[in-house]
Amino acid sequence: MEKSVSMLSVAEAKQRILSKIKLLGSERVPLVKASGRILAYAIFAEFDLPPFPNSAMDGYAIRSEDVASATRDHPVNLKIIGDIPAGGYSEGIVGIGEAMRIMTGAAVPDGADAVVPVEETDFTSRQVGAQLPAEVHFYRPVDPGSAIRPKGQDVCAGEKVLDIGRKLRPQDLGLLSMLGTSQVTVVRQPRVAFFSTGDELVPIDEPLSAGKIHDANSSILTALINQVGGNALFLGVARDDEADVRSFLSRAEALGVDLLVSSAGVSVGAFDYVRSVIEQEGTLDFWRVNMRPGKPVAFGDYHGIPFLGLPGNPVSAFVGFEVFVRPAILRMIGMPDERRKFRVKLVESIESDGRENYLRAVVDFSNWTVRLTGHQGSGNLRSLVQANALIIIPSAVKSLPAGTEVEAWLLEYY
Ligand code: AMP
Ligand code: MG
Repeated sequence: MEKSVSMLSVAEAKQRILSKIKLLGSERVPLVKASGRILAYAIFAEFDLPPFPNSAMDGYAIRSEDVASATRDHPVNLKIIGDIPAGGYSEGIVGIGEAMRIMTGAAVPDGADAVVPVEETDFTSRQVGAQLPAEVHFYRPVDPGSAIRPKGQDVCAGEKVLDIGRKLRPQDLGLLSMLGTSQVTVVRQPRVAFFSTGDELVPIDEPLSAGKIHDANSSILTALINQVGGNALFLGVARDDEADVRSFLSRAEALGVDLLVSSAGVSVGAFDYVRSVIEQEGTLDFWRVNMRPGKPVAFGDYHGIPFLGLPGNPVSAFVGFEVFVRPAILRMIGMPDERRKFRVKLVESIESDGRENYLRAVVDFSNWTVRLTGHQGSGNLRSLVQANALIIIPSAVKSLPAGTEVEAWLLEYY
């Protein structure tokens, strides 16, 4: 049963959708597959990083006291008692008058409190296995701690390194790797089914015949779903036929999806079966919103699965996704519905129709002005391709003079 006959505002419609969307559960995934996923728990370091004091240079581990008097003319000679490659470890202790050669990253031996780079001695070879001289000359003093990366310099055991809700970036995975974390618990990825509807639609790899057009929404919507963090399951194109629409919906249900999205067939056309099937099989919360483009947006559920029916025109489907589906998917993964918004000045006057309008535009960031891109017909994708922003004209506004400030949503946020 349709619950609302009057047209909802965009804000009310969004509110109704979000009130029905739940945060998904979590799952363990291997770290190598975790990029872009959302942490379900905060992560605390179990040990220090670096885990042991190590050398920042290829050089000699020494006692800084020993070289306090060293100069170019009066070098200090230290006895070489060991050689520590990266990954190596020496149980020996550097005593008074002694040194060990050490490579970058190798554990600093006990007794030493500084590393002198090889360049500042008379034996500069770093060759593995090369015969070391019995003694090496040192030409200048160094401060205690010099060229040593202390244990815990980067991270201390017990510290929180990544917070709950963090969208994991490649560098985050690096830090987790250093901490020996091979699996992480992340929010489950929303499985979002999409199907287009319409007898006029032909798959993109088939030739057009009279009266047919290629299906653009499948490409747009599956890309958008994946981009926002969902797992898009593309079901194909349903015919303008009640039985076909039913079979698509039941196929999606069998796949165990978290959200159902379709395009077209939710208006008042003679062949708009999507709306009637949803009314019969679940609930239809609303099917029109006071916006342009994108008035025929439907929301409800199919056998308990949230359903969003977007308009058929590709630009309307895109705007409907940005305004309603993106926030819904973000809610499922516990991410804030944030987007880059700007106040920009119109360089031309704009007429509007009193609905909340989303217009394709180009923002000039050198002076924060904005102009529309081409024809704003909702079937015209070119003007969306040329746009770097959508500008929003609030409802009840019929015209805006040049110079007016409007809100713009940046489209290049990926
Ligand atoms: P409808 O909502 O079915 O009335 O469709 C509105 C308009 O969008 C019509 O011109 C359709 O041909 C067009 N349309 C519907 N679905 C798609 C699609 N997947 N790709 C491109 N155009 C579409
Ligand atoms: Mg149609």
